[in-house]
Amino acid sequence: MKAVQYREIGAAPEVVTVPDPEPGPGQVLLKVSAAGVCHSDIAVMEWPAENFPYRLPLTLGHEGAGVVAAIGAGVTGIFEGDPVAVYGPQGCGRCAKCSQGKENYCTRAAELGIFPPGLGAPGAIAEYLLVDDARFLVPLHGLDPVTSVPLTDAGLTPYHAIKRSLPKLVPGSTAVVIGSGGLGHVAIQLLRALSPARVVALDVAEPKLELARSVGAHEALLSDDRAPGKVRELTGGLGAEAVFDFVGAQPTVTAAGAMAAVEADVTIVGIAGGALPVGIGTTAFEVTVSAPYWGSRAELVEVLDLARAGAIEVAVETYGLDEAPRAYERLHRGQVQGRAVILPNG
Ligand code: NAD
Ligand code: ZN
Ligand code: ZN
Repeated sequence: MKAVQYREIGAAPEVVTVPDPEPGPGQVLLKVSAAGVCHSDIAVMEWPAENFPYRLPLTLGHEGAGVVAAIGAGVTGIFEGDPVAVYGPQGCGRCAKCSQGKENYCTRAAELGIFPPGLGAPGAIAEYLLVDDARFLVPLHGLDPVTSVPLTDAGLTPYHAIKRSLPKLVPGSTAVVIGSGGLGHVAIQLLRALSPARVVALDVAEPKLELARSVGAHEALLSDDRAPGKVRELTGGLGAEAVFDFVGAQPTVTAAGAMAAVEADVTIVGIAGGALPVGIGTTAFEVTVSAPYWGSRAELVEVLDLARAGAIEVAVETYGLDEAPRAYERLHRGQVQGRAVILPNG
């Protein structure tokens, strides 16, 4: 089969032919309908050789949806032809965190060598994807795999982040979304669907600000050093009750801290390496800062339900498998509007 692989540190991803995977006991083989392209892959492909955590070559793609093509021995409750989405942050299923349904925070995954598809294990930007356990599959129940595959990360990650802050997003409150890209443009819609908060989006590119407005942001502002002042102006000097940073670079994280109100949540989702010191006189009183990772399977089910209800809709650009390297290039240059989605089987 054809697959898109990151093969050599610092090199661009390549379309290659690899052996067709076959499901072993307990495994499920998917014929991939759609696979999303995430900015995290670009970060991964920029990591230096010294502390690169995965084995190469690595088939990319941690957002996957497909149709069950074959099942391994002992698999029950799922059938050939079922359309499904893949839950990516897979855990051991048994540790304390997994027992709470938080496989994204599995305490034993590293020790057991369990990696998400595309982030250590062979990923979804390929004609077929092998999934280790049927519990990592969520039925699509009529959703279009092309527009819903980004919900497995670009939807689930902001959903998990936002859900934690909902008690603070009361009428009259303000939520800021920094970075109106793949995750950010879904975050804006989630905030509109789940809360009465006024939503302010920040980005550095005008087309992204337009996207932010079109998906429901009340305000869309240029992300520069004047942005915290503008957010304070909009909020009568108080600042925002929740700031979600989908860039995570030092300037955006610093800005997020500067625009946070007393008792606000600052959530750093972007992985660009920024850090926010917290202290009396540094941040407003009782600001909570956190950096979450992905979300739970239960939350993915909820996100898919929201999409089915028509409350959120991912903007997608589609590409054939052979065009995947170009999709990564466009994402790297900030040219993708919404999410780039690869269709490995046309
Ligand atoms: P993306 O490229 O689609 O979107 C990023 C957006 O940020 C773009 O619209 C870009 O114009 C904008 N931007 C760039 N610099 C900016 C700045 N200084 N101020 C405001 N906006 C700016 O990326 P994505 O796929 O949505 O991913 C967003 C981030 O989230 C990445 O860092 C990614 O690695 C990370 N991520 C984290 C998790 C997690 O679990 N924590 C999960 C998925 C993605
Ligand atoms: Zn991702
Ligand atoms: Zn576990």
